[in-house]
Amino acid sequence: MTRVTVWAEYRQERRDPPVAAVYPDGIHAAIAEGLRDAGFEVRTATLDEPDHGLTDDVLAETDVLTWWGHVAHAEVGDEIVERIHRRVLDGMGLIVLHSGHHSKIFKRLMGTTCDLNWREAGERERLWVVDPAHPIAEGLGPGFTLDAEEMYGEHFDVPAPDRLVLISWFSGGEVFRSGCCYERGRGRIFYFRPGHETHPSYRHPGVRRVIANAATWAAGSSGDRPERRHRPEPSEAGSTRR
Ligand code: ZN
Repeated sequence: MTRVTVWAEYRQERRDPPVAAVYPDGIHAAIAEGLRDAGFEVRTATLDEPDHGLTDDVLAETDVLTWWGHVAHAEVGDEIVERIHRRVLDGMGLIVLHSGHHSKIFKRLMGTTCDLNWREAGERERLWVVDPAHPIAEGLGPGFTLDAEEMYGEHFDVPAPDRLVLISWFSGGEVFRSGCCYERGRGRIFYFRPGHETHPSYRHPGVRRVIANAATWAAGSSGDRPERRHRPEPSEAGSTRR
C-alpha cells in the first residue's frame, strides 16, 4: 500500500477564526481524510512537531509527501529541507499544494522564484484537463469547477513542466498552470494549485481525486538505483587493451 505523509504548517487553523471555521482539525486532516478514503496509508506531520514531524525514519517510510505551507515557510529548518530534497532525488514523490509554491523545498527543486499573481476575492475557478491521457487526469472528464477560491494568475515563474495536466480559469479573467508535473533525480513532483485556507477545497471530490491520482503517480518511481563508480569495468571486454 502506498504510504503518504501529509504535511502542513497548522498555524492559521489554530489562531485565525475564519480558517478554523473551515478546517477545525487542520488542513492536513482534510487532505489526509481524502487520501485515506482513496485507500492510502496516511500519516500527518506539522511544523511545530520536533523536526517538523519529518525525521529520517518518517521520510524513509514515506512514498509520497504532500506539502501545504503559507505563512511560515522561513521557519522550516534548512536541514529538514536538505533531508526532503535528498529523499526526492532518491525517489520519494512530492505533491506541493497551493501556497506551497513559495516553500523552500519547491523553490529549491525548481531553481526559480516560483512567484505568481494572486487576489483573494472568492472567485469561481474552472480547472480544465489539458492532458487527458495522463494518469493524474483519470476520472476527471473535462475538468471541474470550484465555486470560490483565491485567484492565482500567470506568469507563474517555474520551469516549463514536463507534463501539464490542468490549467485554471478564474472569473476575473486570469489563467494559471494549475497541475504541473516534474521529475528531479528519481523523484516525481506534482504542483497542484487549489487550497486557500478559507475555502473548503480539500473536501471537494474533484480536488480529492486529483490529489489521490497524483499520489499514485508520484509513488510510481521504479527501476533500480543506478550505480555510479569511478573507472567502471568497460562494457566491451578488451576494448581498452590491444
Ligand atoms: Zn492562499
